[in-house]
Amino acid sequence: MKLNRRLLVAAIAGLFSTAPQAQQAWPAKSVTLVVPFAAGGPTDVVARTLAASISKTLGQTVVVENKLGAGGTVAAGYVARAAPDGYTFFIHHNGMATSTALYRKLAYNPLTDFEFVSQAVDVPMTLLARKDFPANNFQELAAYVKTNPQKINLANAGLGAVSQLCGMLFERALDVKLTAVPFQGTAPAMNALLGGQVDILCDQTTQTIPQIKAGNVKFYGVTTKSRIKALPDAPTLHEQGLKDFEVVVWHGIYAPKGTPKPIIDRMNAAVRAALKDPDVGRRMADLGAEIVPDSKLSPEGLQTWLKSEIDKWGPIIRATGTFAD
Ligand code: ASP
Repeated sequence: MKLNRRLLVAAIAGLFSTAPQAQQAWPAKSVTLVVPFAAGGPTDVVARTLAASISKTLGQTVVVENKLGAGGTVAAGYVARAAPDGYTFFIHHNGMATSTALYRKLAYNPLTDFEFVSQAVDVPMTLLARKDFPANNFQELAAYVKTNPQKINLANAGLGAVSQLCGMLFERALDVKLTAVPFQGTAPAMNALLGGQVDILCDQTTQTIPQIKAGNVKFYGVTTKSRIKALPDAPTLHEQGLKDFEVVVWHGIYAPKGTPKPIIDRMNAAVRAALKDPDVGRRMADLGAEIVPDSKLSPEGLQTWLKSEIDKWGPIIRATGTFAD
C-alpha cells in the first residue's frame, strides 16, 4: 500500500516534469524552412537571411529547402501535409492569398491547413527589361508595349508568384496581353533576362538592386506608392502615370496545422529576435526590404492579414479572367 502510494506520487511528479522537458527539448534536430521558389531568388534570400539568425536563437540549424512548382502551390501543399511536429515551417508571400483566386482547385486551404507564426518583411518590386530592350524610360516602355504587345514576353515565376501578379497588373493598366514565360522562381527568370531570352520582368528589390546598380538591366520604376530608401532616385510607377499601381511583397511564416502552440510561440520569438538582429537589419535594408512593425508579428496578426489579402486580390484577379485548373 505504502509502495503503491509512492509509485503514484512518482508517476504524477513524472507527468508534471516531462511536459516542460518535452517542450524544452524542441528543437532536438535541425528544423526545415520550406521556400516555394528557386534558390538564389528573392524569397530564398529573405528565407536564408532569417534562417541564419533563427538558427542562432534556437541552437539548431534551420535548413532551407526549395520545393518548386506551380507558382508556390506545390510547396504549400507539401507543407500542409507535413507532420505537425515542429520540424517543418514554410515561408511564402502574397501568393498564399492570390493562389486562391488563380487556381480552381488547390490541394490545401491557406486559412485552415496551417498554423500561423508571424509576418517578417515587406519588399518592393521593380519593373525591368533586358538591357537592349528598345524602351529607355517608362513613357517609351508604355508606348512600345501598347503598339507591339505580340512581340513582347513577360517572365514570371508561375501563377501565384508576385512577378505574375505585378505583370498582370501592368498588362491590365496598359490594356494589353503579353506572352507569359513561367520559370520556377525569378532567379532563373533573371538569368533569362540577363541573357536576353525574355523581355520584361517585375521582381523584388531583394534580387534586382544589384543588377540595377550594375546597369545590367533597363529599369523603369518601383511598385510602391512612395519612393524607397534603397533606390531614392528611382521614380514609382504610380508617379509616372500608372495611377495607384502598387504591389508590396509581404511574407508570412507558417507551420502545418496541429503544430503545438508552445513551438509556434518559440518560433515566433525566434523570428522576432531575427528581425531585431543588426546583421539581418543591415542586409534587409541593403536589399530594399523593410522589417514590419511589431503589430504585424503575432500569429493572429498574420491570420487576419492573410484573410484581408484573399479578400483584396480575389475580385481583382477574377476580373482579369486569369486562372489555372
Ligand atoms: N520573385 C518570385 C515571385 O515572383 C519568387 C522568387 O523566386 O522568389 O514570386
